[in-house]
Amino acid sequence: MTDLSHGAAWMAGHIGPVSDAAIPVTDWGVTHSDIAYDVVPVWQGAFFRLDDYVARFMASVRALRMDIDRDAEDVKTALADMVAASGLRDAYVAMVAARGRNPVPGSRDPRDCANHFYAWCVPYVHIVKPDAAARGTSVWIAKHIRRIPSDSIDPTVKNYHWGDFTGGLFEAKDNGFETVLLLDHEGHVTEGPGFNAFAVFGDRIVTPDHGVLHGITRRTVLEMAAETGLQVEARPLPLAEFLEADEVFLSSSGGGVIPVARVDDRTFSNGAAGPVANDLRARYFDWIARPEHRTPIAY
Ligand code: PLP
Repeated sequence: MTDLSHGAAWMAGHIGPVSDAAIPVTDWGVTHSDIAYDVVPVWQGAFFRLDDYVARFMASVRALRMDIDRDAEDVKTALADMVAASGLRDAYVAMVAARGRNPVPGSRDPRDCANHFYAWCVPYVHIVKPDAAARGTSVWIAKHIRRIPSDSIDPTVKNYHWGDFTGGLFEAKDNGFETVLLLDHEGHVTEGPGFNAFAVFGDRIVTPDHGVLHGITRRTVLEMAAETGLQVEARPLPLAEFLEADEVFLSSSGGGVIPVARVDDRTFSNGAAGPVANDLRARYFDWIARPEHRTPIAY
């Protein structure tokens, strides 16, 4: 049997090694980054909040006016079959809708394209390595690049327009930082490549309310915060206020809650992971193990 433990892909109903999976060079997904996608984590043999991730995916597909000819249940079945075939117990599981090829010669009409669904999975991805996250990571505020305005590309629709993030990551790496956070054109904090951002002020946590993807981990953090008695504010967050926080942290399906020890030349929590972020980080790994959040995979 083929070894799929490095990753599997579901392409047109066939499951095979992720390394063999490819889409045509003329697919608008490649030529125009015209893709809606989502990523659900698998942890200890079960999907976490599967319904929420798939619902967000289906909403993104609708927002981009794609027709993938399958419903949420079909998508869940494809994902479950694929992960089961891979044998992966902890996985990064992507579901993708691509605009597809335009079969009409010379047509620039997106309605002519043959939209299609595919999926792939690889071993679980931590966007910041766990030991670095436990110490508190470093974040660069992009100086030359702003987040794509939300009236150009809607950030609540999970998409492949990563030009701003990739440019920002180069800035961050050139300056010796782990990752990057982008501002909007009014100077508010938005988000970074694969994560939402939070600031902690005493027993209050603040996170941007618009201009960002509504992360499922962000939602989990807001729910965990409510459970622990923290107050939550989702509202515009100016950079100056963000830099005055007691603590800063990130949230992502790739690693949960990620404490931040440094933003530009500002050090937080004496250069370590702060207590609120540390507590939420530990709680996250309890939450994803709760039976009500798990959809076990039949391996
Ligand atoms: N913001 C962006 C741009 C993302 O790509 C992601 C995840 O990939 C997030 C935020 C975090 O969302 P989630 O918690 O659903 O992983």
